[in-house]
Amino acid sequence: MADRVFNFAPGPATLPYEVLQKAGQDVVNFQQTGIGLIEISHRSKEFIAVADETEANLRELMAIPSNYKVLFLQGGASSQFFMVPMNLLGPGKKGTYLNTGAWSKKAIKEAKLFGTVEVPFSSEESGFKRVPKPGEYATADDSEYLYYVSNNTIYGTQFPDLPVSDKMLISDMSSDILSRPVDVSRFGLIFAGAQKNLGPAGVTVVIIRDDLLTRTPANTPTMLAYKTHADKGSMFNTPPCFSIYVMGEVLKWLKKIGGTAAIEKINKKKAEMLYAAIDRTDYYRGHAEKESRSLMNVPFNLPTKELEAKFIAEATAVGLNGLKGHRSLGGCRASIYNAFPLEGVVKLVEFMQEFAAKNPAA
Ligand SMILES: *Cc1c(COP(=O)(O)O)cnc(C)c1O
Repeated sequence: MADRVFNFAPGPATLPYEVLQKAGQDVVNFQQTGIGLIEISHRSKEFIAVADETEANLRELMAIPSNYKVLFLQGGASSQFFMVPMNLLGPGKKGTYLNTGAWSKKAIKEAKLFGTVEVPFSSEESGFKRVPKPGEYATADDSEYLYYVSNNTIYGTQFPDLPVSDKMLISDMSSDILSRPVDVSRFGLIFAGAQKNLGPAGVTVVIIRDDLLTRTPANTPTMLAYKTHADKGSMFNTPPCFSIYVMGEVLKWLKKIGGTAAIEKINKKKAEMLYAAIDRTDYYRGHAEKESRSLMNVPFNLPTKELEAKFIAEATAVGLNGLKGHRSLGGCRASIYNAFPLEGVVKLVEFMQEFAAKNPAA
C-alpha cells in the first residue's frame, strides 16, 4: 500500500485495494487450478461460477426484479448509445432525451439514426451546470421512453432523484451505478460501463426488462440484439472474463460494506467535505449549481489557469493524482467514486486550504 497514491481519475478509476491484490494472485493461478484467471475457458465450471455469482450479487445489491435480465456486454457504454435506439426505436418511433452533458449529446446523435428524437430539456446554453427540476420538461405522449444520464461525469451534475415521467426510464448510469439505492422497476433499461464504479474497462452492464427483448427489428445484426445475449446468459461469444471477475470482487467488497444504502452515506460524507472546502472561500468555484451537484465528480476552478496548473502539479507531488479537469471544461476535477477512500478526500481538503493560503489570487 505504501507505494500507492490517491487517484482522483474519472475512469478508469480507483478500485478497492483488496480487490486489486486478490486479482493479482488470481491472474497467475486461479483457485488452485494451476491456470491463470485470464487463461481459463469462459465455459469452464470455475468461470461460469464467477459469472453466475457476479450476476447474483448485482441482482441482490440493486434489488433487480426477476423480470429483468442482466447482461455483460462489450463495446463500452458508448455502444449503448446506438444499441438502445437500434433495439427499441425504429421508423416512426420516438424517444425523449434530456440533454445534460456530453454523454447525452452523443446518445441523442445516435438515436436520430434509428427514430425520432425529442429533447424537451437542455442545459447546454448554460454550460451544463445543472439537471432539470421535476416539471421542467414533459415526456412526449407517443414516446417509447425517457432517456437521461444519471450522473454527468464531466460537468459534475447528478439527478438527485429519478426524473418524473409516465413512460419507462432508460438511464446511462456509467458513473453512479451502485452509488445509491435505485428503484429498478421504474426502468426499461439501465446501462453502465464498468470503469467508473464497477471495475476495470471492458465490460458494460445492461439491465433490461424482459418484455423489451422482443421489440428488436428483424434486420438487426445478431451481436447487437439484446435477446442474443439474454438467451445465452451473456455467453453467446467470449465475454470479457477478466472484467467480469474483477467486477464480481468489487460487488463482494460492496456487500461487505453494507450495500448501496451504506455506500451512499459514505459518498455523501466525502462529497459534503469537498463541497464545503469549495464553498468556504471565493478562491475555489464549483462548476455545477448547488441543487445539481454530483456526489461522484466534483469539477472546480481556481482564480486563474496558472494557479490551476500549479495546483495540479503540487497536488500530484504530494500523492494527490488525477485532478486535471476534462479537456472540454478545463480546471480541476476530483472523482470520488465508491472505492475512493475518505482519507484521500481529507488530504485533498487540507491541501486545498494550504494552497489557497500560500497562493493568494492577485
Ligand atoms: C465514461 C462514460 C461513458 C463512456 O463510456 P465508454 O465505456 O468509454 O464508452 C458514457 N457515459 C457516461 C455517463 C460516462 O461517464
